[in-house]
Amino acid sequence: MKALLIVDVQNDFCTGGALATRGGEEVAPVINNIADKFDLVVASKDWHPEETVHFEKWPVHCVAGTHGAEFHAELNSKIIDQVVEKGTANVDDGYSAFEATNLDLVQFLKSKEIDTVYVCGIATDYCVLSSALDAQKHGFKTVVIKDAIRAVNLKEGDGDRAIEQMKEAGCEVVHSNQI
Ligand SMILES: [Zn+2]
Repeated sequence: MKALLIVDVQNDFCTGGALATRGGEEVAPVINNIADKFDLVVASKDWHPEETVHFEKWPVHCVAGTHGAEFHAELNSKIIDQVVEKGTANVDDGYSAFEATNLDLVQFLKSKEIDTVYVCGIATDYCVLSSALDAQKHGFKTVVIKDAIRAVNLKEGDGDRAIEQMKEAGCEVVHSNQI
């Protein structure tokens, strides 16, 4: 059984958002198109308290309950079976969907007999990277959908380096039309 893990397709990570990636919202139609190929669709939300040490590193973004923390309107919310919230505590990073606090994602996926996790969303060089590495680490076959991710690229090439890092860890990288 295979799951689609949609990472942080939220307003603040899209054009006009507090921590925008270039073309972040462009992943939404790609994701909408492939969602029915999966047995389960999980979407993560960066879901921060108003004050957190995380904001010493980043501009304030995705504060729980705000517009910036909502899924982007282009993402079809009907495809989502389960939402997981991460970054909810006063912690530095918390990039991975597997650090969600409202649900134990590993146990949840195992309870649904998921053996393969396809990862997409934002941002390639942070939360997608951490989530894919964690999925791999927890023993899931992990596949990254390269046309359904976007990078912050704080340093030029960060996104490409993240893809290499995921490949080196054993993740497969595919185009959405190969699924
Ligand atoms: Zn964050």
